[in-house]
Amino acid sequence: MRIVVYPGSFDPPTNGHLDIIERAAALFDRVIVAVAVNLRKEALFSVEERVAMLKEATLEWDNVEVDSYRGLTVKYALQRGASAIVRGLRVLSDFENEYMMALMNRKLDSGIETIFMMTSKEYAFLSSSAVRELAELGGDFSDLVPPCVSRKLVEKFSARWRGREE
Ligand code: ADP
Repeated sequence: MRIVVYPGSFDPPTNGHLDIIERAAALFDRVIVAVAVNLRKEALFSVEERVAMLKEATLEWDNVEVDSYRGLTVKYALQRGASAIVRGLRVLSDFENEYMMALMNRKLDSGIETIFMMTSKEYAFLSSSAVRELAELGGDFSDLVPPCVSRKLVEKFSARWRGREE
């Protein structure tokens, strides 16, 4: 069975992430979407909220599972029996970071391959941070994220939007 881990912050999950998940699910027997617990990075949504949103957004794919993990991605991937890690590539500026991370992961374990998927062009400028910023400023994010994420963002920010109108 070919298993791939798709690690990330997913704070929050976007349609760009779902596009990568859908395409990975067509290539691998099993995709494990794994929310990385990063104590250094302050997050908008808790790990539990992110896992719940991803679970709801990926219900339609039988071979996609959602989990969270702490520590080294390579170690987690090995524990889960994965042969590869998948990451998405958007604009050129993603490349340097992703390249360094892939090389470091290979040094840690050469048995785990990192594969990159190019974003679909409609999502090339879509990122979780852009969605967070839009939500904060009261912009329309409804076509950038799945409906369950849209609902959570409205829940989180509506009091703030009201405060601004008053
Ligand atoms: P991280 O904080 O680990 O970069 P993210 O949640 O921001 O986590 O992203 C997880 C992965 O998904 C990364 O490989 C990132 O490049 C990719 N990704 C994010 N947004 C998109 C998008 N719009 N299209 C394709 N890949 C994306």
